[in-house]
Amino acid sequence: MTSKFEKYHQLRNQVDQLSEQLSGLHQNHMACKKGCDLCCMDYDVFPIEYEAMKEALQNKQVDMQKSIDGSCIFLKDHMCQIYEQRPIICRTHGLPLLFMNDEQWELSACELNFTEFDDEDFTTENTFPLDKFNSKLFLLNQVFLKENNLSYSEFDLIPIHNLKD
Ligand code: SF4
Repeated sequence: MTSKFEKYHQLRNQVDQLSEQLSGLHQNHMACKKGCDLCCMDYDVFPIEYEAMKEALQNKQVDMQKSIDGSCIFLKDHMCQIYEQRPIICRTHGLPLLFMNDEQWELSACELNFTEFDDEDFTTENTFPLDKFNSKLFLLNQVFLKENNLSYSEFDLIPIHNLKD
């Protein structure tokens, strides 16, 4: 039987593949390591991601923390307790991200990894195209809401900390 999250999982795999490729390209800069949680926060996710995480965590013992000042409920002792099931945004942590903001291209790069850089070092080939994947996720979420008769609007996001309720 096909899982209702099959396409979402495929997208997640594509993100992982590209993230790995970009980490390789930037290996001289990438200092991401276990115990670094600078990128971790209480993100808002689309219902498709929220429900996929909820299903994956069913019958699993996860010691969810209280979200304090926007901290993620899955962060414990500076480690992600749901690493394999973390949402798409967490799979791009540490990489240079390219996205549109107020009709302008914006670049976001981790200050621990990219301590010194020139904006010109970055191109569309060596940055993560966040909008492209967010658009794909948006479309998958639209279909998911329709097929599962869920009463969210297509723009609704859910804070991850709701999984603790
Ligand atoms: S889900 Fe994991 S990787 Fe993502 S913010 Fe929470 S602790 Fe960090």
